[in-house]
This record gives sequence, C-alpha cells and structure tokens, in this order.
Amino acid sequence: MTPRLLWFTPEHYHQLLSNALEHAPDEACGVLIGVTSHTGIVNVEQLIMLDNIASDRRVNFRLDDEQLARVVGGIASSDREIVGFFHSHPNGDVIPSESDVALASYPDVPQIIVGLRHSPPSVAAWRIAYGAVSRIDITVGDVAPSQAPQGLSDFQKALILVSAALALLLVITSALALLPPAPEIPR
Ligand SMILES: [Zn+2]
Repeated sequence: MTPRLLWFTPEHYHQLLSNALEHAPDEACGVLIGVTSHTGIVNVEQLIMLDNIASDRRVNFRLDDEQLARVVGGIASSDREIVGFFHSHPNGDVIPSESDVALASYPDVPQIIVGLRHSPPSVAAWRIAYGAVSRIDITVGDVAPSQAPQGLSDFQKALILVSAALALLLVITSALALLPPAPEIPR
C-alpha cells in the first residue's frame, strides 16, 4: 500500500526532534520501523538512529550499509518493516536537497526531513521516486487516525448526499412555483 499519512505518537515525534538537535551541527539519520495499513496510514512504532558515515556530515548524510542490514535482519521474521528514512538539516529547512533527490533509492519508503533552521524545528515527509518529489502528510497524536486525508469520511459522504437531496428539492419547488396557475374548471 502506498504510504499516504505518517502517524507519530508525541513520544516518537519528540524523539525524532531531539535526536536531530543532539547531532547538530551534523546531520542525524536513521530509520523508522512500523506498519502500513491498507488505507495507507503509516504507524511509526520505533526510531532507530544510525551512524552518519558521510565525509561531509554537516551538509550530507550516508547510512552505513552494515547497520542497515542488521536492522533489516532484526525485523525480517516480524510483520514490521522499514516505513521511513529520516535525516536532519541542521541549518536548513524540510525541503529535500538536490543530493537527497538524486540519492534516494527506495521510492516506496517515505523520506522524513527535520529542519532545524527555525525554532521550533519542522518536520516533513516526502515520497522521492526517480527524481519526482511529492509531500506525504504527517499527524502526531496518541490515537490512531481513522482515515488517510485523501479519502472522504462517512460523515462527508452523508453530507454530500444530503446536499444533493436538498438541491433537488429546491429545483422541484422552484419549478412548481413557476408553473402558470391552473385554468378555471368550467361549471
Ligand atoms: Zn537532506
């Protein structure tokens, strides 16, 4: 299922921000473990920090392949998966850099970027697929979101039906009002 909404508990969201702040002025990086529902809601259950092995860590990040392989091995027998890669921009915002776009190699896994330029820091999730970048919504809360944002809720569907019925009623009443008066019936 294509990820459409990333759900963090406040605890995990806070952990993401504090990891990024701790590693500044270097870029922090790691993976998110969790599950994706059939409606595309990504439940982030765990953050795993990984070493940034880039030579220019202040402006770049590179994951360590061995560490990543250990993470993948650790969840292989579970129904959990890597649901995101994250890294920080210690002096930047949440927009993927040119190298983020060029080097993104898992098109189906959201890329989460923590921007530390402003206070409070900001976070955004992106789908980066073969050079095309699109944003994925993030929600933070203790309770699971019931619906990914693109879909209509049952309430919204009911509202549309009621509006349509009212509109039809209005058309019928107007049409009736426009009818000429009935001719007198001769006695
Ligand atoms: Zn970046």
